Amino acid sequence: MRRHHLLIVLAVVLAASTLDAQQAASTQVTAIRAGRLLDPEAGRILTNQIILVEGTRIRDVGPNVQIPTNAQVIDLSRMTVMPGLVDAHNHLALTYKPEPESNIYYYTYVADSTALRAIQAASNGIQMLASGFTIVRDMGNNGNYADTALRQAIEQGWIPGPTIINSGLIIGGMGGQFSPTPEMAKQHNIVYPEYLDADTNDEIVKAVRQNVLFGARVIKICVDCKPYGYTADEIRLFIREAAKVGMKVEGHVQTLNGARNAIEAGIWSIAHSTGLNEEMHTLMAQKGIWRAGTDTPDNLAGHPVSPQAYQRTVNSLKDAYAKKVPLTFSTDADYYVAGKTRGEVCLEFLKTWKDAGIPNADVLRAMTINGYKVSETDKTRGPIKAGFFADLIAVPGNPLEDLDTLKSVQFVMKDGMVFKKDGVMTPAGFFHGGPVNGWRIR
Ligand SMILES: [Zn+2]
Repeated sequence: MRRHHLLIVLAVVLAASTLDAQQAASTQVTAIRAGRLLDPEAGRILTNQIILVEGTRIRDVGPNVQIPTNAQVIDLSRMTVMPGLVDAHNHLALTYKPEPESNIYYYTYVADSTALRAIQAASNGIQMLASGFTIVRDMGNNGNYADTALRQAIEQGWIPGPTIINSGLIIGGMGGQFSPTPEMAKQHNIVYPEYLDADTNDEIVKAVRQNVLFGARVIKICVDCKPYGYTADEIRLFIREAAKVGMKVEGHVQTLNGARNAIEAGIWSIAHSTGLNEEMHTLMAQKGIWRAGTDTPDNLAGHPVSPQAYQRTVNSLKDAYAKKVPLTFSTDADYYVAGKTRGEVCLEFLKTWKDAGIPNADVLRAMTINGYKVSETDKTRGPIKAGFFADLIAVPGNPLEDLDTLKSVQFVMKDGMVFKKDGVMTPAGFFHGGPVNGWRIR
């Protein structure tokens, strides 16, 4: 009886606090005057638009929208307003750096606790948001689920950050992407928990379930990191098990044979372009498999890329575009580049897209529309349309004419709250002394 009573009181309190938060949010109306508004789907600019935001969502958009008297007005009449950007492949709790580990990230797990890496991830998330990335797919190498902690912290309302679609641990055959010594492998340390071993069908099922249990939103597998990589049948088992909870599977692919198996199995997305040739691109286009090419530019200080390797990357991206493979802007930008934020490093990857001769409108589609689709957020966030979450950014120039204007993001709104204005981060509203959106958000 007593316990029941307590539960009812608790339920009432919880319901009331949720309602309070909703009411508070619903009273906040913001009207944004957009001088130019980019519609990436159509690849065109609309002029003199008004975007009405109520609480966390967009209420109305158009040239003749009435501005309510109680609305806060934000003047972006000299800017181009556009939907937020997506990086479809990053590692926010990993920092690849020449010092101290010579870009070999074995050492990261030895030197940095998961707790420290979660704090790095929080910082990197803020840096991404400041550059206009409102959605990031965080694809593993996050210690012991620092990526889940990051997602929860953002969703519960502790800190600002992009919407995080995280993979949890990368699942692979024994050793993952590393080459552990027998001591490391048998004692199950150092490599672990960066990778989750799954060498049999039972282990594949269990590994997927472990990631689901610990908060993943997408499954990431090493298709061919080792000579004993996965067969098409094994990849199908991953896909089936993930599908039970509505999740998709991304495969790290580095060989032609691995690409063939992943494509035959009907994987959702393929990370990296090293295993992809013209034939694989043709098959990916036929099957609608997303290409997360991680197209590394040759201009990241401290991370040299040979001219041959860069030319290969550019040619591959060019071929994928010509064959109409669904493209995502995916950077894998876990690189530390002195003087640049994580978001600024990601935008350096525009160089590869420009060198591949991809038209600006299609680069912008990859960075927005395709990003929402590959992250499966396209039903709720992305387009600047009534009913969608209010995630939007503003740049001084016209990105259809000059992609580099994306490097000068002046304004960022996330979930209806202003995060950056006049080029300066103003994140105070995102910090709270408690989980304002609810501690039950897991
Ligand atoms: Zn990666």
